[in-house]
Amino acid sequence: MTTIASVEPSTESVRARFDPHSRAAVAAAIADAEAAFRTWREVPISDRAIPLRALARILRDHKDRYARLITTEMGKPITEALAEIEKCAWNCEFYADHAAEYLADEFVETNARASYVAFEPLGVILAVMPWNFPFWQVVRFLAPALMAGNAALIKHASNVPQCALAIEEAVRDAGFPSGLLRTLLLSGAEVEPVIADERVRAVTLTGSTATGARIAELAGRAVKKAVLELGGSDPFIVLRDADIPAAAETATKARFQNAGQSCIAAKRFLVEAPVADEFERRFADAIRALRVGDPFDPATQVGPLAREDLRDALERQLAESVRMGARVVIGGRPRAGRGWFYEPTLLADVTEDMPVLKEETFGPVAALLRVRDADEAVRVANSSPYGLGAALWTKDEAAARRLARRIESGSVFINGMVASDPRLPFGGVKKSGYGRELSSFGIREFVNVQTIWVGPAEQPPQVANVE
Ligand code: NAP
Repeated sequence: MTTIASVEPSTESVRARFDPHSRAAVAAAIADAEAAFRTWREVPISDRAIPLRALARILRDHKDRYARLITTEMGKPITEALAEIEKCAWNCEFYADHAAEYLADEFVETNARASYVAFEPLGVILAVMPWNFPFWQVVRFLAPALMAGNAALIKHASNVPQCALAIEEAVRDAGFPSGLLRTLLLSGAEVEPVIADERVRAVTLTGSTATGARIAELAGRAVKKAVLELGGSDPFIVLRDADIPAAAETATKARFQNAGQSCIAAKRFLVEAPVADEFERRFADAIRALRVGDPFDPATQVGPLAREDLRDALERQLAESVRMGARVVIGGRPRAGRGWFYEPTLLADVTEDMPVLKEETFGPVAALLRVRDADEAVRVANSSPYGLGAALWTKDEAAARRLARRIESGSVFINGMVASDPRLPFGGVKKSGYGRELSSFGIREFVNVQTIWVGPAEQPPQVANVE
């Protein structure tokens, strides 16, 4: 049996090992979650908010411990890990405040005495989660799912088992019914029977497009709803009238935060030719100034990549793109010594056929491509198989609002960087997946949208009954 190992990316040392859960343990976890769901669904929504607020407090009270776990297991700079925990607490409070309003019955005038739409929980939801924001990805799903009255099984990424167990403990300590959230320590390959289990009513994945296709296939076979938050290759478009210093500064954060390991990181920088030289110079200066190093040092801005195979994959994409003619402006190599560090890299003279443009790059590599005009920028932006987010920089706000609608992505941020926010829906189109998280849209993903019709009819139906 292969163990699940927690390996520190900055030192490559093994910090903990866990045996995967046995079949019997998984069966017991599903049974616990199902039993907890039966009682939890009867709890009024205002009372469901009580443990969720307690969870927010626990997250804040133990912020340092949780942030250190994140940094230990996946290498994120500690300042970013602390911000991640703070955002989780905000998300819990946000849904504690807004879930009742989002799930209130919606009355509709028909021929009935009364007719309305109710939003009832589905049951046990399986969440297959990634390592790049080990607390945020889980809490983003969890807070609305529990407020809607569901139970949850979390199958977290195999490189963050300590984060997974800490989340389970925090949820228990917050006062949710025992078993309402259970962590499954399993490899990806062992998820199939959990999706097939009749008691599991839906599945959500945040992960790669390849895994998304597999999970959608399994969910389809079992006729279960799936929400898929997958990869991205977000364009960052800079038009000739943009505020170039501000765009270059924001571009640096948008690409190098979390060492570039974010689905909504800006990955393709599409810059109008007249301002491309200035943008490249300013972007390169800002990248050169980034502090790379020990992720536990509060001054560090870029830490290691989370796993060796991710660094190898990035190295392949870069080498192939350089072979095809991309110019390395800065960086371009793994850093020597221990830890899976990669130098912050800017590649210019990139063309559309190169891997750094065609594929998702999950690391600190920015690819810069010159475009003739806004129309070409939109065409290149839409040429990607992905459609998660996009940023658009210009001083002409009216034109930007028009252009935004032509970009095939789940969000467009004008004169800013793509970011998730509990108040706004989050998700993608095309190979970036389907379904939405956050806001009112996210909480309605895992509910039964139930029509309730109360007779006797007060008027004849508008059209004859055909179904
Ligand atoms: P991944 O391999 O797809 O892993 C994600 C999760 O899926 C892990 O828990 C993994 O478990 C599990 N998994 C892997 N193979 C599976 C299978 N055949 N059946 C069921 N579960 C399986 O993703 P990754 O490469 O580690 O993470 C990076 C990717 O996630 C990037 O493409 C990124 O864009 C995407 N991502 C998207 C979002 C978003 O919100 N759209 C957010 C973050 C990341 P194991 O760890 O045990 O393999």
